[in-house]
Amino acid sequence: MINLERFSIGIGDRFGREGPAQLAAFLKAKATGVVITPVWNKSNREHTIVGTHPDSVRAEADAAVRTLNWTGSYRVDADHIGLKTVDRFIGASDFFTIDVADFIGQPASADAVRDFVSRQRRLLACPFGLTESTLERTAQKYLLAVQQAGQVYRHIAQAKGAGTFIAEVSMDETDTPQTPVELVVILAALAGEGVPVQTIAPKFSGRFNKGVDYVGDLAKFEREFADDLAVVDYAVREFGLPATLKLSVHSGSDKFSLYPIIRRQLRRTGAGVHLKTAGTTWLEEVAGLATAGGDALRLAQAMYADMHAHIDELSQPYATVIDIDRSRLPTPAEVAGWSGTEFVAALRHDQRNPRFNPHLRQLVHVGFKIAAKHGAEYLHALETHRHVVAELVTDNLYRNHIEPLLVAS
Ligand SMILES: [Zn+2]
Repeated sequence: MINLERFSIGIGDRFGREGPAQLAAFLKAKATGVVITPVWNKSNREHTIVGTHPDSVRAEADAAVRTLNWTGSYRVDADHIGLKTVDRFIGASDFFTIDVADFIGQPASADAVRDFVSRQRRLLACPFGLTESTLERTAQKYLLAVQQAGQVYRHIAQAKGAGTFIAEVSMDETDTPQTPVELVVILAALAGEGVPVQTIAPKFSGRFNKGVDYVGDLAKFEREFADDLAVVDYAVREFGLPATLKLSVHSGSDKFSLYPIIRRQLRRTGAGVHLKTAGTTWLEEVAGLATAGGDALRLAQAMYADMHAHIDELSQPYATVIDIDRSRLPTPAEVAGWSGTEFVAALRHDQRNPRFNPHLRQLVHVGFKIAAKHGAEYLHALETHRHVVAELVTDNLYRNHIEPLLVAS
């Protein structure tokens, strides 16, 4: 049985060039005594937009591990897959994020719901205040999604063998958050469905927009996160789920204001966490090109102009997780006049810098299709300025994410 360690971080790399630079950040953490499992993740959506195959992520991870002599565990995550998309990922992945958000709210059969409620009456005694009507309502809302997770899990297990991969179930890409008491019912249902889930990704309260900070009530998030930790602990003891079960936070990257909260709660409880913070590596590549100046800066400026022109198309797949105020975006002509320093100041997520522009950052975050369009030219620029880019990638991952979340100060 493959077990996931207490701390793991999901890292994404749109163009597959930053594996060693990312892994270097985990080595820095290890040098301070904090062992974190790197998980390279790339969703079907990203593969489709960039035009890559899941095998390329496995190749990247293996190569990075060899190059840097990483001796710890590492995983390759088929991120946000479903029954229709999982097959291409079977060979390369040993971590599967089974996304059932689309099935939330679709009712399971009345018989199945009645049967579930009668078998799970013991849950009414759980310490989270579950009432009979909430049990029934939650079953109606989530049972079909859980059954779907079971189907996908069994499909993978049949192809790869049970115990040879880590199963995550994600419900984050939906409009309404799951409350801790709903999470109890969902985990009981997953156990009943025979899914040995090791990471569960609920939707938390508040906005998790791409590449920018959390928007919401921090005190409320802390209570919810603490309650969810208690639910996970209870589910392991009561439902026979794997002892390694932990929360997965699909952060959409850069939820800096949540890190001290999560850190505090992990220390208080001894719990672990899986943090997905995929998208910012690509933003560091753009920052690297802008920093390098010359042709590389001009390429970054040209890509921005292209993103600005295609904003509707680029935003559409991410509509629920971005808030771009178009009136606050600089025009392509303005950006074309910027120095590398000015470009980087607008792009990089430094909330104390008055030049930081979250609208531009979100647009670039979802604009990687434009870099894919520039193909060879883009990849060539990355290679030419490898040192500048790699340093930014490592530094961002370590200093902005790993250190505040997990490394003692
Ligand atoms: Zn997600």
